[in-house]
Amino acid sequence: MLVCALATVAGAQIDPRTALVERAAWAALNAGKARAAADAFREAIAADPKNARLHLGAGMAASLERRDADARDAFERALALDPKLTQARTLLGQIQYRMGDVQGAMRTYETLLDLAPDDREARATLDRWRRELDLHDRMQQAVGSHFTVSFEGPAEAELAAEALQILDRAYWRIGQLLGSYPSDPIKVVLYTTEQFRDITRSPSWAAGAYDGTIRVPMRGALDKRDELDRVLSHEFTHALVRSLAARGVPAWLNEGLATALESGDLKWAEARMEHVVSTVPLRALQNGFGRFTGEQAQIAYAASALAARRLLEEAGGPAITNLLRDLGEGIDFETAFLHRIQRSFADFQTTVF
Ligand SMILES: [Zn+2]
Repeated sequence: MLVCALATVAGAQIDPRTALVERAAWAALNAGKARAAADAFREAIAADPKNARLHLGAGMAASLERRDADARDAFERALALDPKLTQARTLLGQIQYRMGDVQGAMRTYETLLDLAPDDREARATLDRWRRELDLHDRMQQAVGSHFTVSFEGPAEAELAAEALQILDRAYWRIGQLLGSYPSDPIKVVLYTTEQFRDITRSPSWAAGAYDGTIRVPMRGALDKRDELDRVLSHEFTHALVRSLAARGVPAWLNEGLATALESGDLKWAEARMEHVVSTVPLRALQNGFGRFTGEQAQIAYAASALAARRLLEEAGGPAITNLLRDLGEGIDFETAFLHRIQRSFADFQTTVF
């Protein structure tokens, strides 16, 4: 995420102390310290409640912490105070989209483009959302007890029914392993390969995506049921992790669990890691893998899967579930790990590979 430096102090009426708090808030945000930034913006807003940019900053801090509803409200407050604050409008649209409100996001971007017609990136995003909405309007749905599978035409109906069965099996199998069963229905969309690339903008090696909705390109899925099973189980695990912790989960743990639980067989990962000369520090796999090349991604997934399997064997699924819940509540990783896994993360890392 791009964080603009808006550290200049607006308005002469602000007292010096509030100006200092505001400066500290932007500095914390730029350093990625979301919690400290949120606290500082809250304090600054108490002293200067009509300052639109403080609400913008509060929204950015909330967004970083994945408190999406708080972020949306803060951006809306910023815009009520200053409708020309386009950065708040851009971020409001993105958060609405992330919350699944595609229509709201589109309305926000339409207003944005009325005010800033030359914003090419905004126009491209709006066009992409429009294509997504058109496609989803055309789609049919197969509804199960825990999943809703959307698909385009009658030709995919058989595949959607198959997907529902596979997802239900994954729900019980993986739910039992981790001792947790998501209660809200999970949305799943089956795409053609082209639709999938267009809507998710995933790297070419991606076989599925999860952003609150499970999105899967079908490819030749009907011919390769094992592959469909693997991909859906993987993405379901992400949905389960999200139901336990909406934030704070390192990528290696999230992808590692999804990869270790998609099928029982990790021989490919062991073989892959044998050819890796240096050790892969898990700390380097903190953020998403979307930026990696295919080769790098393979190593990242293999290392993460082996680490997650080790964790499952050593501590068990319920301990991992507790660790995830702690992370979702904002407890820092090292503390939560030590408490739930009963050893330090540094110590755990030395024994993985
Ligand atoms: Zn994944």
